[in-house]
Amino acid sequence: MKIINISYRLPLSVKKQNTKTVFTPSSGGLATAVLSYTQKSEQKLTWVGIADFDRNTWENHKNEFEGNFEIEPVYLDRRLNRNFYNIFSNSVLWAMFHYFPSYMEYNEAAFEAYKSANEIVAKRVSEIYEPGDLIWVHDYHFMGLPKLLRKLLPDAQIGFFLHIPFPNFEIFRILPSKAKRYILEGILGSNLAGFHTWDNVIHFTECVEKLLGLSHRNFVFSQDTHRTRIGSYPISIDFEKFHNAYDKPEVAKLRSEIRELYQDKKIIFSVDRLDYTKGINNRLSAFESFLKKYPEWREKVVFLLVIVPSREEITKYGERKSMIEQSVGRINGAMGNYKWSPVVYQYQSVEFDKLIALYTSADVALISPVRDGMNLVAKEYVASRKDLRGVLVLSLMTGASKELQEAIAINPFDKELTGYRIAQALDMDEKQQEKRMRHMQKYLAKHDVFRWATRFLTDTIDMHDHDNKAQ
Ligand code: UDP
Repeated sequence: MKIINISYRLPLSVKKQNTKTVFTPSSGGLATAVLSYTQKSEQKLTWVGIADFDRNTWENHKNEFEGNFEIEPVYLDRRLNRNFYNIFSNSVLWAMFHYFPSYMEYNEAAFEAYKSANEIVAKRVSEIYEPGDLIWVHDYHFMGLPKLLRKLLPDAQIGFFLHIPFPNFEIFRILPSKAKRYILEGILGSNLAGFHTWDNVIHFTECVEKLLGLSHRNFVFSQDTHRTRIGSYPISIDFEKFHNAYDKPEVAKLRSEIRELYQDKKIIFSVDRLDYTKGINNRLSAFESFLKKYPEWREKVVFLLVIVPSREEITKYGERKSMIEQSVGRINGAMGNYKWSPVVYQYQSVEFDKLIALYTSADVALISPVRDGMNLVAKEYVASRKDLRGVLVLSLMTGASKELQEAIAINPFDKELTGYRIAQALDMDEKQQEKRMRHMQKYLAKHDVFRWATRFLTDTIDMHDHDNKAQ
């Protein structure tokens, strides 16, 4: 028996070393959690995903891959992948599910490509499936997959998890009817459908009731072939990894460098992918409003803004980058001087040790998405503060804000009030910081990513077994 895990990206990176190609496993939170579960349950893991390398390269080098799991790459034609991934997944579903319907660029060819890609993956999974295997489908790229798999493999145990928000009915209804039906029926092919929050669960069940005319009992929909439970499973992080990183000598060294550089200033920090959902412009406006309202803080604070490049081929992302860079220029030009730049900006990713050094140097983490399924950065910031210092300022539009109750909560659209909250965070005394951090760390230490994966997979199995016993 094995677990078949399906996500758009495969957990490996491809590096060219001189003329040689090397595939190395990449250890993101999801991969670590699933692997930990398979090791404990003494199962094998096969990961299915879309290849971003060609077939020959993989066939020639797969024997050198040193991950302790199997990789099953699915190869998609370039044009099909563009329509499936860039257009339907990232310009229709991502925009819509994050409450940006005006950014949606729907077209029929893209929807057809989405269906074809789901069918290709379903076929591949059915070829490697053996009775007793547990199938875990991830995210908005594969919402049609559970139904397709249920048809091919009627007895399979199938779990589906959505890593982004599920929007409310008034937003979801904007999609053309056939796409709406495809998505809802698709997800209902699973034994368990998981979302980050109860709000998302309620949105999904309401859409199913209103659009498919089905009713649920205690969040279970009964169908001819099986039943589907809908539940809230907030994803989390490897708490120990972030907590213990505080003491790594490399991290400590980088931290003292950062502190020395800004020794007479307080540090506000944020890191996100470049994405219109992250509220980066709102954040800059709030920071500007803060500097105007509290001039006594000028030259005494610096905002370290790290933006990680993402989806550069999509127009809306390029536009966003220009807007952000204009705002950074405006703030630094108007308020900075030859001794001080209020915003220090980088458009590059940061590697792990540097990220932890930045988290653990920051007096305030300012996290202001206008919509975010969870937001792991917020959890990582809290987990890494072994010194029990620092203040988390967190948008109410994130899934994480439902759990991290001791954060200072903000509405990212209210820049005046956010400016005030920044001042409040900078002024918070150490005792209060410690109390809040301790509470949040206690919560995260228990609710980590391993617990998340275990809860999700055992509930999928229970739901499946329960159905089979009832027959
Ligand atoms: N991260 C990264 N590269 C970086 C900086 C951060 O991969 O240069 C990680 C970060 O540690 C976090 C993730 O990216 O685990 C972002 O997750 P989040 O849920 O906050 O947002 P998402 O990008 O998934 O929308």
